[in-house]
Amino acid sequence: MFLESFRHLIEIEALKKQNQQNLVQISSENKRISDLEERRTKTRLQIDNLKLEEKNLKLTETQQQIDVSQARFKKLNSQLALAITEKEQIAFENQLKLVKNEMENLETLYFSNLEKSEAIQNEIENSNEFLVGSLASLEIIKTEAVINISTENKIIENRNLRVQSLTELLQPSLKSLYLETEKKFKPKRPVSYLIDKKCSECHMLADSMLKNSLEEGRSIEFCPSCSRLLIPETAKIY
Ligand SMILES: [Zn+2]
Repeated sequence: MFLESFRHLIEIEALKKQNQQNLVQISSENKRISDLEERRTKTRLQIDNLKLEEKNLKLTETQQQIDVSQARFKKLNSQLALAITEKEQIAFENQLKLVKNEMENLETLYFSNLEKSEAIQNEIENSNEFLVGSLASLEIIKTEAVINISTENKIIENRNLRVQSLTELLQPSLKSLYLETEKKFKPKRPVSYLIDKKCSECHMLADSMLKNSLEEGRSIEFCPSCSRLLIPETAKIY
């Protein structure tokens, strides 16, 4: 009496398995979007860090220090020209040496940091270009995804209509047991096939009585080991 229902169950399960593939497709469409959005967020953070790094080079401050040293150097030079005694002269010359040394160090620092700053600004520029370009790609991907996802959903919907009408055709007690088992096993398969006395999911060996009764459609059976609803493999060929 259950053989017809078993055949419906086989089709129901096959349709649900096909739905899984469409769901995988939908999630991969969504992943395309979230991956790109994630990269964009990372790039924005990188730009912030680069800007901070550039600011920490303190180029303007170094430039100001150089200006101060230069002014001091100039002043000392004019003082040297006015020096009267040899002692004064030596003192100014020593100070000039110190200031010149300081100026050279500052200039070395300035140019090395200037190079770093230019490299950082290049990197920022590239990152900004990526943000602009990827915004356009993102819009295209989103438009494509909306269309693809809606196509996938339509396929699933149609299949679910068929699943629903097949479910209605199931023998009532088999139907309620199937739906119960499905809830219990979700997202795993709630059914298994009895193939050569063996459960296709857990490979438990069933006894001949269970096998015969199931294959002749006389009873509803569950695998004694994994508790799945058993479908006789012979129902496939009826
Ligand atoms: Zn089993």
